[in-house]
Amino acid sequence: MTPRVRFAPSPTGYFHVGSARTSLFNWLYARQHGGTFVLRIEDTDAERGREEWLEGIITAMAWLGLEADEGPFRQSSFEPRHRELADKLYESGYLYACDCTRDAIDERTKDRKTPGYDGYCRDRGVARSATTGLRFRTPDAGETVVHDIIRGDVSFPHEAMEDFMAVKSSGAPLFPLANMIDDREMEISHVIRGEDLLPTAPKQILMWQALNEIDRDLPLPSYAHLPMLVNEQRKKLSKRKDPVAVESYRDKGYLPQAFVNYLALLGWAPKGDEEMLTLDQLVEQFELSDVNHAPAFFDIAKMTHINGEYIRAMDVDEFIAASQPWMEPLADAWAPADHEIPWTPEQFDEDKWRAIAPMVQERITMLSEIPAMVDFLFLENPRFDEAAVTKVLVNDADAERILEQAIAAFTDAEFQAEALHGLLTSLSESMDLKLRKTQAPIRVALTGSSVGPPLFESMVILGRDEVLRRLNAALVVARG
Ligand code: GLU
Repeated sequence: MTPRVRFAPSPTGYFHVGSARTSLFNWLYARQHGGTFVLRIEDTDAERGREEWLEGIITAMAWLGLEADEGPFRQSSFEPRHRELADKLYESGYLYACDCTRDAIDERTKDRKTPGYDGYCRDRGVARSATTGLRFRTPDAGETVVHDIIRGDVSFPHEAMEDFMAVKSSGAPLFPLANMIDDREMEISHVIRGEDLLPTAPKQILMWQALNEIDRDLPLPSYAHLPMLVNEQRKKLSKRKDPVAVESYRDKGYLPQAFVNYLALLGWAPKGDEEMLTLDQLVEQFELSDVNHAPAFFDIAKMTHINGEYIRAMDVDEFIAASQPWMEPLADAWAPADHEIPWTPEQFDEDKWRAIAPMVQERITMLSEIPAMVDFLFLENPRFDEAAVTKVLVNDADAERILEQAIAAFTDAEFQAEALHGLLTSLSESMDLKLRKTQAPIRVALTGSSVGPPLFESMVILGRDEVLRRLNAALVVARG
């Protein structure tokens, strides 16, 4: 039988990098075994769920290239079946009604060593009503073993397991029950999900086995609980404190292929030295049983480095196409959030952008860095970095003579990068200055900044007239 896996996110927030990793590992497993990847949106938490989060999941998965073979299904549409099977479990005695309040339970159990519910209503024969929830009667002795592909056998002694709630007093089935029923109904063979759900697994196995007795007899799925993601302080990634939203990475200009590649390295490593792997290579090499159970460090610096490598590996047309949302967004196309393009559509010059693009590609790690690096080409005047202006134009006594001589030399120079380089080199020698030193005021005059694409190539793209105009303007500043 070919595997059937599912990704079952809850739309209760931005799509989290951890969820993206879970989605990827399910997708990879399905692809490499010729299996089926099902997308099931667990939307039963009406209070916390939002339609826009759901959209966010679908869009992010499409961006990452993780398309589902079946779905998206909405868990809420299966609720009648959840209720039907909950009733069956109740009628067969696997679930019992409980009318205890939280306070009453806390009061009774405050001195007990084992946490959780004390079984008070187990044999009280409480009638089911609008104020009773339903609890699962866990066996008194023995244990439930979760055979986990990543962690091996994890045993949960029944003594330590409480009679957990399966249905709320409102009649709504709770997550462990609904989620397990859907896995049964969809005949899921492998449950691959985050390790925060490992404690839920024995409850689900017990309920699954109960349903095997009174409903269809179905084989238990295999489990694989993926290691949690931690930040630099080795603390669990926090939704509030850490940048965890996949869309924020898209907005910054991470490439989907780089992002997916990095996600694959969270808890797994290829056998060879090559860490840059395409989706196809990942499908070939990924091994679920080789996933490590130790927490995985979500290393943004490493991911950024990988992104830079991917950017450099693109051919220039691909790079230009990928950069489009940051440069000249098309009407109705996706545009990154919080990104303001510094030039108007009329100022943007496609030819200049093409000319500088290969040099920009070598110097960035995220696409969102591009505009600040090339805006001097499109704006009437560069946006000046005040600190740089003060340092190399205002406070540097050499600035004036450098600019004067540069203007004189460039006025009838051949406007070609190597020739300009040679010219400024000999000019530096004649002034007894290092080339770096003579470049500094020229670069700030032309680009507004002391860092950026190579100077001489930039000068060629700007053209002689514009170069001379900007150098003259800077000379006025240098003269004070
Ligand atoms: N909906 C659950 C969550 O987002 C995941 C359920 C599962 O994968 O079993 O945490």
